[in-house]
Amino acid sequence: MFFHAHPDDEALLTAGTMAMLAAEGHRVVLVVATAGERGLAEMRPGEALGETRMKELYASAAALGCARVECLGYGDSGLSPKGGIAEERPDNAFIDADTEKAATALADILREERADLLSIYDPAGGYGHPDHVQVHRVGRRAAEIAGTEIVLEATVNRDPLVKLLKAAGKVYRFPPEFDVRTFESAYSSSETITHRVNVRRYARQKRAAMEAHASQATGGDTDRTLAVMLKVPGPLYRLVFGTEWFVRRDLPPGARLRHPFDRWPK
Ligand SMILES: [Zn+2]
Repeated sequence: MFFHAHPDDEALLTAGTMAMLAAEGHRVVLVVATAGERGLAEMRPGEALGETRMKELYASAAALGCARVECLGYGDSGLSPKGGIAEERPDNAFIDADTEKAATALADILREERADLLSIYDPAGGYGHPDHVQVHRVGRRAAEIAGTEIVLEATVNRDPLVKLLKAAGKVYRFPPEFDVRTFESAYSSSETITHRVNVRRYARQKRAAMEAHASQATGGDTDRTLAVMLKVPGPLYRLVFGTEWFVRRDLPPGARLRHPFDRWPK
């Protein structure tokens, strides 16, 4: 089971691993906390953004081979202009949710599916979106309640990424609002990562998942990661998206695994 904050997070962080597990015959379930209704707005007339983004999520999940998609139904907490918690947010914002209640709802699905594995985020929530931090808290607790054995924190190995983005910046013009420096303290450093999953074979599915989230990739002036990533030239794209990274905290530092279900010591 892969737990994400908003539709499109699965495409950016774990799509290759999801497609790989589905291709191996595992039942892959995708759960989002919110419908992402405070994302970029480029709507068809008469349609709410949350509805559009859920449709996109179903299309992405289908491309990846997911067996089931669920939304916990919390409100997208949004981001303040400075990147912190937004002052104006919906009554049922995920960030204000009772952790125990949300975790119980997620644990119910974990139990129903008899899930072997739950994928969440690192404690910092990657780049720090409050809903992503909440995914960590709620996910941890849900795994405790349901007794899920393997908990993986989906992350990005920031070391090669920062190096690569700096090099790419010399030949490729990133949008001015895309600041490479934000990656220097986000996600995880190389030595803390326990899983490096080679997903190069699933690049096609991963790209299809990203393209399914059209409302987030085509909306006007945007600093959304997805819009930037879809513009990344082919070779760089394969390099950046050929691997997905996870941290499993119950393993000793120095554990180096290649598959979510690998055991350590090998
Ligand atoms: Zn998100």
